[in-house]
Amino acid sequence: MLASLTVHELGARFRRGEATPSQAAQAYLERIDALDPQVRAYLTVTREEALKQAAAADLRFKSATPLGPLDGVPIGLKDVLCTRGIRTTCGSKILETFVPPYDATVVARLREAGAVVLGKLNMDEFAMGSSTENSAYFSTRNPWDLARVPGGSSGGSAAAVSADLAAATLGTDTGGSIRQPAAFCGNVGLKPTYGRVSRYGLIAFASSLDQIGPFGKDVEDAALMLRAIAGHDPLDSTSVDVPVPDYAAELGKGIAGLTLGVPAEYFIEGMDPEVKAATRAAIAALEKLGARTQPVSLPHTEYGLAAYYLIAPAECSSNLARYDGVKYGLRAPKARNIVDMYSKTRAQGFGREVKRRVMLGTYALSAGYYDAYYGKAQRVRTLVRRDFQQAFERVDLIVAPTTPNVAFKMGEKEDPLQMYLNDVFTIPVNLAGLPGLSVPAGFTRTGLPIGLQLIGRPFEEATLLRAAHAYERATEWHKRKPALP
Ligand code: GLN
Repeated sequence: MLASLTVHELGARFRRGEATPSQAAQAYLERIDALDPQVRAYLTVTREEALKQAAAADLRFKSATPLGPLDGVPIGLKDVLCTRGIRTTCGSKILETFVPPYDATVVARLREAGAVVLGKLNMDEFAMGSSTENSAYFSTRNPWDLARVPGGSSGGSAAAVSADLAAATLGTDTGGSIRQPAAFCGNVGLKPTYGRVSRYGLIAFASSLDQIGPFGKDVEDAALMLRAIAGHDPLDSTSVDVPVPDYAAELGKGIAGLTLGVPAEYFIEGMDPEVKAATRAAIAALEKLGARTQPVSLPHTEYGLAAYYLIAPAECSSNLARYDGVKYGLRAPKARNIVDMYSKTRAQGFGREVKRRVMLGTYALSAGYYDAYYGKAQRVRTLVRRDFQQAFERVDLIVAPTTPNVAFKMGEKEDPLQMYLNDVFTIPVNLAGLPGLSVPAGFTRTGLPIGLQLIGRPFEEATLLRAAHAYERATEWHKRKPALP
């Protein structure tokens, strides 16, 4: 079963001549045909192109000139990333017919590394949501229980990895949209430091928070994917010129000698007792592997959510002003004049959650309210960041649950505020611009995955990956597969 292998296992088979990239692409495409009608991870499958790219990779292996660890590896991309010549919807009707004329930098880098693109993955519209139910097209399902959500907004990317519908995928994380779905689907999801990965060609949601990152079947796969996409890009002025380590090569360094901080504020009233117990057990396992732990305090955690739900809508209201029926995608017919055309296009093209946020954000930014809302939220953001700075003077990493609960039922959280609460433990990390990772750390009695979150200092993704790898090697969680019919 080629589709069940990790990226590094698959690469090893290619190099030994035991399998070809074409066989791997074929295996994934067959699996997508068989299972995606139930999981619904893909918005677009790029079959012909995938087979063409795989055939090109076959030749490189035949002539013993592979491009590296991702050569010939079938991957999927969240549909928020621009792909040249391939429809990019962002989960929205307003971009239903948008075909970008260029590749996002991360896409170009994966292509240069030889990766084979299987298609574009479902997501909450404009990455706003925690369940993928806000997609304008359909909801993706959790491979562990098809009646439950995969998390969001990168639900398609997470479900595809866990259901073996892609070897690895990319998602984006503005307030938790990589880590939360990774936790819900039981795989490894990494949100890099703000500035670590170029966002050129990423359709913007909230520009001071958005980061692109990988989903992998294990930690090593996440490391290989991050290495391929990270690094400075002259096309994105927020990408930082910091050297990119060979993350996979550093995985073996282990965790002995590291000090882990355990924040009291991340074990709250009302969280799932099974998540709490699994997190405690994971911390004990990390101690057994040689890490020291100590309590840390992040006292402004409880204000993170409120600050985020001012900053993110404010930035999205500005970013989404460009969808006016003139430049991209949808244009409403039968408009009386240009203002009527703008408003009809936006009324027809955007879904409920997007409209809610554009309205909230426009209000928060309007004259007379700016200081009271946006300005105040930015000051709270500084306090949240300082909490982390102080903690990182004493500890190397912070360990916490990724989410307060496991995957919920589709349709269960109709109140937007209930939905927003999913991200209490992930949002502060975006506000502070730090790297964060979710690694499988157990299952509930009913068989739903639980994620452990590791948070690091800026640009210390290597430390996160090292610690997660040590934990992964001491546990079996990542080896379990959902029983899909
Ligand atoms: N769930 C959060 C939101 O709805 C985070 C989304 C994200 O990270 N893209 O905004």
